[in-house]
Amino acid sequence: MKDHDIGDETRVVEAGRRKEWTGGIVNTPVWRASTILYDSVADLRAAAGRDTHHRLFYGRRGTPTQWSLADALTDLEPGAEGTFLYPSGVAAVAAALLSVLSPGDELLLVDSAYDPTRSMANGLLKRLGITTRFYDPLIGADIADLIGDRTKAIFLESPGSLTFEVQDVPAIVAAAKARGIATILDNTWATPLNFRAIGLGVDLSVLACTKYIVGHSDVMLGSVTAAPGRFAKLRETSFQLGQVASPDDCWLASRGLRTLAVRLKQHESSALKIARWLETRPEVDRVLHPAHPACPGHALFVRDFAGSTGLFSFVLNGGDEASRAALIDGLDHFGIGYSWGGFESLALPVDPQRYRTATTPDFAGPMVRLQIGLEDPDDLIADLARGLDHFAAAL
Ligand SMILES: *Cc1c(COP(=O)(O)O)cnc(C)c1O
Repeated sequence: MKDHDIGDETRVVEAGRRKEWTGGIVNTPVWRASTILYDSVADLRAAAGRDTHHRLFYGRRGTPTQWSLADALTDLEPGAEGTFLYPSGVAAVAAALLSVLSPGDELLLVDSAYDPTRSMANGLLKRLGITTRFYDPLIGADIADLIGDRTKAIFLESPGSLTFEVQDVPAIVAAAKARGIATILDNTWATPLNFRAIGLGVDLSVLACTKYIVGHSDVMLGSVTAAPGRFAKLRETSFQLGQVASPDDCWLASRGLRTLAVRLKQHESSALKIARWLETRPEVDRVLHPAHPACPGHALFVRDFAGSTGLFSFVLNGGDEASRAALIDGLDHFGIGYSWGGFESLALPVDPQRYRTATTPDFAGPMVRLQIGLEDPDDLIADLARGLDHFAAAL
C-alpha cells in the first residue's frame, strides 16, 4: 500500500498485486501446487524451520494466488493484521469460532444469525462442550448483563441477513473488551467497503466471499480477517483443521474483487429504488432494509455504515405459503435459489420465525427476500408488479 490515503475504489483495484507474484501480469495468475521442490535436504530442513507466511512450503500453506487475495482483503480492513481463506463462508465461521473457543466455554450468538451458524453452535460446538446463549440483535450495551465467567466469545451479524436488524457493534465490542472476550462479526452483507469491522474494534471479521467478493455466483469461498493479536491463533487453528482455499477459486475471487466498489454502488441504488417502490404497494406490509427508517436499528446504520447493498426483505400484507409462491413463481427476471451477491437478481421465500429462540419477530404475512442484481431496476419493478398481481389473485 502507498503511504498516502486512498479511496476504496482505488484500493480494490490495486490491493494484493505484488510484482513478485504477478510477474508483471495485471492480476495474480493461478499458482496451482501440492508439492514444492527443494534444492537439497538442507534447504528442505531450513524451510521447515521458517515461518511459512508468504513463502512456498507445501500446497496446503498456499501460493501467491491465495496470498494475494488474502492481503487484498486485509488491506480493505484498516488496522487488521491478516486474513485466512476457506473453501466456504461456513468453513470461515467454523474456523473463527474454533480459534477463540474451548470446551467449557460459552458463546453468545445473535438470534438473527445465518441459520447454518446457529446449526454449528447447536451441533458441533455443543458436542465439543461449548454452550451457546442466543441474544436479541437489538440488545446493544445490555449484552454486558449476559456475560458470565464462562463467556469467551460474542458472535454478531449486522444486519441479520433475513430480518436486517442493525446491531450496535461499537457498544457490544466495548462490553466484550471490558471483559477480555473475543468478538466475531459476520460482515457479509455490508462488506468491508460499507462497514469497517476491524476499525470499529471487532476481533474477527468473517465474509462469505461467495457473495459480493466473488460477485458472479460461480465460486464458494470464505475469509476471516483478524485484528492484531488474533491472527496467529486463527492461522494455527486453520492449519490444524487443514483448511485451504483452491487457487482457481481465489483467482476468480480476486478478479471479482476488482469490480466490487462499482458493483456495490449499482446494487445499492437499484435496491433502494425497488425498496421505495415496494413501500408504496398495498400488498406489502413492511420493507426491511437498513437504509429505511422503519428497519430496527436504522439509526445505527446511519451512524456506522458507509452505504447499503442489494439484499433486503419485505413482508406481505396477509397471504399464505401458496400466495407467496404465486408471487415468486410469477417473476420472470428473478431466479429462485439460495445465496446472493451475484450479478443476477434472486427472490427467496424466508421464514425467520422458524429459527428464532431468543426473540419472536411478529410479521403480518409471509416474507420474501430479494437480492437485487445488476439488471435495469425498472425491468425488475415491472416484474415485481406482475408478481404482486399473481399474489393478489391467489389471495
Ligand atoms: C451465505 C452466507 C454464509 C455462508 O457462506 P457459504 O459460502 O455459503 O458457506 C455466511 N453468512 C451469511 C450472512 C451468508 O449469507
